[in-house]
Amino acid sequence: MKNVLTAAELTDMFLYAAGKIVESKDYLTAIDSKIGDGDHGIGMAQGFSAVCDELSVYKNPESVEDVFYKVGDTLLDNMGGASGVLFATIFISGIADRDKHICISTEDFSLIFRKSLNALKKRGKAQRGDKTMVDALEPAVLALEDSASKHLSLIEAFKSAAEEARCGMEETKNIRAKLGRARFYGDKSLGLQDPGACSVWILFQAMSDWMVRNA
Ligand code: ADP
Ligand code: MG
Repeated sequence: MKNVLTAAELTDMFLYAAGKIVESKDYLTAIDSKIGDGDHGIGMAQGFSAVCDELSVYKNPESVEDVFYKVGDTLLDNMGGASGVLFATIFISGIADRDKHICISTEDFSLIFRKSLNALKKRGKAQRGDKTMVDALEPAVLALEDSASKHLSLIEAFKSAAEEARCGMEETKNIRAKLGRARFYGDKSLGLQDPGACSVWILFQAMSDWMVRNA
């Protein structure tokens, strides 16, 4: 079992995860149609298909930080809506101020995604329990930190992060929306999962599946 990924392997993993978001376009649109304005799947597919295009020709990346930046920068250029900037923040903020590294470990992932989470919460002014993507990302980050403290492999770390993201996403069904467009739905938002939290889960589930097959 691998304990680190090279920058090229990280590119391949993000390429796989981006493809899964594109495949989920109709599913995400259906959820956002019930609780938002129905554009989440379209925006995510637009942003992440541009990521697929960029990463499929991104050969020999110099560092893992460059790979994160490439994903975030591509999302910024290609994805509109509230969540375009927020997903770009997840990929860009985590690597801000980091030196460049040729590979990435469970601990690195936990440090990077912790910074991403903090930046996302600051930017969107959202806390856990507000029925947003934070509700899936925060438990995933806590799982990565727990795995890092136990020196677990990448596979084990991402399996538990994906499972925690899924539980966090499921939990959003029990929360009344307070932020974003969903807040206009009030009590009607109960029983429905948050689209952004669903996208975060899809990303972590895809990264976990990639790890199981390749790491
Ligand atoms: P828009 O709100 O512009 O239609 P999307 O439909 O693409 O954007 O994305 C909606 C998702 O964005 C929500 O499901 C939620 O997860 C996330 N979101 C909205 N506002 C915030 C916020 N302030 N902080 C964190 N996430 C947010
Ligand atoms: Mg929307």
